[in-house]
Amino acid sequence: MSDKIADLAARRARKRDAKPRKCPICGKPAVEATRPFCSERCRKIDLDRWRAETYRVPVVEADDDDAPKPESAEDAD
Ligand SMILES: [Zn+2]
Repeated sequence: MSDKIADLAARRARKRDAKPRKCPICGKPAVEATRPFCSERCRKIDLDRWRAETYRVPVVEADDDDAPKPESAEDAD
């Protein structure tokens, strides 16, 4: 009788032991919605890094030369 309870407890423990993935950006446990990251913020950080790796040369869209371009401060790098 107690075996069943023990089995149940073991199963629960096993489930709990399934380690949550750690966010590769900040090391916090990842959440379901933004796996494998802990938050949308870290997901974006990773995406930006990935983009920076992929597109080393910044793509400049210069269709409208006369139009003032909105300068992003983060493009400085
Ligand atoms: Zn994170």
